[in-house]
Amino acid sequence: MNEEIAPGVPLYRVTDWADRFPWLFAGITHAGADPDPFDLRLFGEPASQLAPGRWRDLLRASAFTAIVHARQVHETRIVVHDGVGKGVREAGGAADGHATADSGVLLAVTVADCVPVYLLAADARAVALLHAGWRGTAAGILPRGIALLGKKWGTDPGNLLVHLGPAICGECYEVGSEVFGALGLEVPPDPAPVDMRAALARQAKAAGVPSESITVSDVCTLCGGSNLFSHRAGRSERQVAVLGIRP
Ligand SMILES: [Zn+2]
Repeated sequence: MNEEIAPGVPLYRVTDWADRFPWLFAGITHAGADPDPFDLRLFGEPASQLAPGRWRDLLRASAFTAIVHARQVHETRIVVHDGVGKGVREAGGAADGHATADSGVLLAVTVADCVPVYLLAADARAVALLHAGWRGTAAGILPRGIALLGKKWGTDPGNLLVHLGPAICGECYEVGSEVFGALGLEVPPDPAPVDMRAALARQAKAAGVPSESITVSDVCTLCGGSNLFSHRAGRSERQVAVLGIRP
């Protein structure tokens, strides 16, 4: 699972998909072995001085033509990338999701506990990648992404694959009543842990994705020594999930 795709570019692959779809590139960066962790945070205070160069390194190592990202705001806007140029490209305006059917365009979302949601329409060779924290999940970014793939590329939810990537687990993520309420769950009397990936899996099923097409990473960003950054652990650094159709 752990590998460097190029010297100094640490990345875990979505292994199930790597074996089945050699034309696909799906993974997530991690802190790496270097004493200086592989932080890709471009926004926030203080911004990492090294991050812009690392984004270029990630693009070069992936051998894609472009990598696209956006300022994320825990909402549901998803940008469709069609005929983008080369290099590291920030989408206009804030967005928490990206979609494309263009080969050579690597979609990227920045995470540290929130769930990176990978959507694959293998028949249409179209992909979407979403950033889903509790706010985005409650606002319906996942069903919105599924609907977008259908509208744009004619993909039936029954033919979609969904992977819920490394994120804070259902034992580590203690939240207040407002989160349970927003997710439509029974509200406990006291703060309690919630499993965001389970909530997203339920949404995917409700939108028509077959259970057997939904895979969930067993990696937690907080417990278990995953070498990923965790906001709850007090880390300000960020990893980046990536998904794209190889050039
Ligand atoms: Zn955990």
